[in-house]
Amino acid sequence: MKFFEVLEGTSTPQTGNIDGASRWCIPSIECAVCGGYGGLGEAYPTVDLNDLPERALLEEPRSLQSVSLEEYRRLCELLRPRVPAGAPLEPGTQLGPVSGKASGRFGDFFFQAPWTLWASREAVEKLQDAGVRGLRGALGELRYRSKHPPELLELELQVRGNLHPSCFLADWQPPCSRCGSNHNGYPAETAALKAVTLPEDVDLFRLHEFKTVILASERFVTAVKHLQLGAIQFRELPVR
Ligand SMILES: [Zn+2]
Repeated sequence: MKFFEVLEGTSTPQTGNIDGASRWCIPSIECAVCGGYGGLGEAYPTVDLNDLPERALLEEPRSLQSVSLEEYRRLCELLRPRVPAGAPLEPGTQLGPVSGKASGRFGDFFFQAPWTLWASREAVEKLQDAGVRGLRGALGELRYRSKHPPELLELELQVRGNLHPSCFLADWQPPCSRCGSNHNGYPAETAALKAVTLPEDVDLFRLHEFKTVILASERFVTAVKHLQLGAIQFRELPVR
């Protein structure tokens, strides 16, 4: 099986725009060793925290403030039963559907950020029918000035694959011994994936070391091409 990095398509210009954010977010943490830790990319839009008594601790603007490592770990324990098994729950993890405003015209896929991937409901259903595995998402709570608002789902991508250590740059540093933060840069030119870490039950997921990087299996890429879905492109990464 081949694997690919997922990138925004450039051939079909889009006018779509989403101005919104998830209702809840895991706060960044203070760290006596490395200074602090706030990640980017991890998101579980299908999670509903409305019945969690401690949810106010995860609401903006609380999430803009740092918390202690102990408080962060306590919050993670509360969230653990509500997220996919093995979720890293990095500080900065977005939880719950995005609410906000949408405008313009959207294609089959929409990148709100390079790490935040949306798809039309129609595209998601076609991909599921084509046999793509583990594809799910949450409808955005979006205000849209039109009689026919698009049905857009933010895709929920599990963190599942690892880089192969052979592609780490020469100045690669191990994660912080206290909080686990990763202060390295993504080796875009040399990136390679570690075969044994790649999932067999989902076809679209995030890279463990860099949760802003979205990966797709050959099955996903083949389905997208067969269905002629647009606004997305792929770059094959070597697997070792
Ligand atoms: Zn640290």
